Amino acid sequence: MIYLKTPEEIALLRASNQLVGKTLAEVAKHIRVGVTTLELDKIAEDFIRSNGAVPGFLGYGGFPNTLCVSVNDQVVHGIPSNYALKEGDIVSVDCGTVLNGYYGDSAYTFCVGEVDEKVKKLLKITKESLSLGIDSAQHGNRIGDIGYAIQKHCQAAGFSVVRKLVGHGVGRNLHEDPEVPNFGKRGQGVLLKEGMVIAIEPMINMGNRDVVQEKDGWTIRTIDRKPSAHFEHTIAIRKGKAEILSTFDYIEEVLNNK
Ligand code: MG
Ligand code: MG
Repeated sequence: MIYLKTPEEIALLRASNQLVGKTLAEVAKHIRVGVTTLELDKIAEDFIRSNGAVPGFLGYGGFPNTLCVSVNDQVVHGIPSNYALKEGDIVSVDCGTVLNGYYGDSAYTFCVGEVDEKVKKLLKITKESLSLGIDSAQHGNRIGDIGYAIQKHCQAAGFSVVRKLVGHGVGRNLHEDPEVPNFGKRGQGVLLKEGMVIAIEPMINMGNRDVVQEKDGWTIRTIDRKPSAHFEHTIAIRKGKAEILSTFDYIEEVLNNK
């Protein structure tokens, strides 16, 4: 069942998603060699609560923390821990909020100090693929058009698309219909309509596309232990270009001034 959102609901979703962007910017300020992923989690939780919202992932399906923090070969759903970030790491930080009953969901992959050129390219291509996916997410197109755009861009660069995890609708629930795969065929799948709100979240691997779940029951990592990148925006489908409800602006302001 796909719920089309009213303009009032989209305004509430925008507010929640903007708070996610601001939370990720707070996290960005503290990303450096030596910080533990649990310290980043605490910063995010405090910031979300001080803004009148609650963490969207904490307790969701039993998830123990506010952030999913996934380092290097971890793809998504990493549990914050006492791991201290090291020079050359990449770290995907995925954040959810609930504000006035509506979810925000967005993710960004950060570099820790100097990162290998090929890994930097993986991040660049993954982020570009998210933009291309968003460009394809317009009223009258289909879900497959989004996945096609993402897959084409990433595979052309020699990277692979994770198949086992996908994007999703967002609303009063964190995960609503439809599923939004990062691969697909043009003109296939669910018809996109104005008022649909979806999270597009390419998870792109440097090596093989296959992933496994760690024994902690959450963390997804690459089977070949090569790095993986993850960027996510929540968007509202429009006639013409989609509206991006989340934002990387606050994050990039922090990164540009570091
Ligand atoms: Mg997310
Ligand atoms: Mg998501």
